Amino acid sequence: MLAALRTAVLLLLAVALSALAAPALAQSKAAAETAFRDWLQTTVWPLAQKKGVSQATFQAAFAGVTLDWTLPDLVPPGTTPKPPQVQWQAEFQSPGRYLSEDKIAPLVKGGRALVREWGKTLAAIEARYGVPKEIVVAIWGRESAYGRAAIPKNAIQTLATKGFMATRRDMFLPELVAALEILEGDHIPLSEMKSSVAGALGQPQFLPSKYLAYAVDFDGDGRRDIWRSVPDTLASIANYLKAHGWKAGDAWGVEAVVPAAVTCALEGPEQGHPLADWTKAGVTRIDGAAPPGKAGDTRFLMMPAGRLGPAFLVSQNFYVLKTYNESDLYALFVGHLADRLAADGRIRGAWGTKAGFSRGDVRAMQQRLEKLGYDVGGADGLVGFKTRTAIGAWQAKNGLPATCFPDAGLIKTIR
Ligand code: CA
Repeated sequence: MLAALRTAVLLLLAVALSALAAPALAQSKAAAETAFRDWLQTTVWPLAQKKGVSQATFQAAFAGVTLDWTLPDLVPPGTTPKPPQVQWQAEFQSPGRYLSEDKIAPLVKGGRALVREWGKTLAAIEARYGVPKEIVVAIWGRESAYGRAAIPKNAIQTLATKGFMATRRDMFLPELVAALEILEGDHIPLSEMKSSVAGALGQPQFLPSKYLAYAVDFDGDGRRDIWRSVPDTLASIANYLKAHGWKAGDAWGVEAVVPAAVTCALEGPEQGHPLADWTKAGVTRIDGAAPPGKAGDTRFLMMPAGRLGPAFLVSQNFYVLKTYNESDLYALFVGHLADRLAADGRIRGAWGTKAGFSRGDVRAMQQRLEKLGYDVGGADGLVGFKTRTAIGAWQAKNGLPATCFPDAGLIKTIR
């Protein structure tokens, strides 16, 4: 009886509070909009003016623009940032899911037709930038499904909202100014300047600063149009990769057989060795042939699931792909998709990663490894190469066969 009464009182209180909260919220939103208009004039306009943006461009860009309250990671004025929403309890996902055939196959089919359709343009791009056509097309596919993905947001509104009140607003303010510079250059009409919710522009998904540095006009119409022009999109991707060190004539990598005597703890970009050393140690292509390249070329072991999944021997070009997106799996997705566009086969090694632990369990294990003096690259519950090699080193030190990847038993054992 008492409990029921308490529930009723609490319910009434909740109703009363929400009735109070609704107008308060509307009021604070209106106040934020006013502060936003003020911020545009006092903070954004002087920065834009310094970069040569005209008053006319500035006025047009922000005519009728209000804050986009639907965007993620917002911290409205007067509120405190919420800690990032990480699903620590969620089951840890096998890296193999990222590269599953249902994600790859549709892009292979669509991509092969586009490699043929844009053959002449792609050949000219490859001649100028030294990046294979399949790599360029694979990034295009991964970023925007070959320009078919919906890129829904008004870039100016998105970047302005993020510059004004997002968790990383210091990073977004210069991106907003860069977007105004793009408008000033008349590369795209304002109404067609679309971005993702993260402010990434057009078919290659460049942030505005990357656009200013790397976008190119390849169809010769005087505009660097990565929204509507396929030649501009493809050449901009190739130019980006060349500028980040793509070495012409070198493969990104190959799937490899790594003998048991070669520890998985030798993985990663900090442990490059001449190809001759790897072959001497018995590393071959998956089909037993010699890996491509010259004896002195630097090669790296890349084992995204340690001994529990397929292994790759990669070149510096693999790490150039990672400048587009810092995930090993992203770079592997692009490299593998490029191989498939050139008609190579599927990845043969099985992803034998085990279930039964969460991202939070991985983080707890990382924190214990850190206490033991290992560098896991930050305890974030994700398993990058530093965490993998730290696990392998811990296993070797404790007389266990190195797997370089977590499983439920190992997570309990590492202390
Ligand atoms: Ca153009």
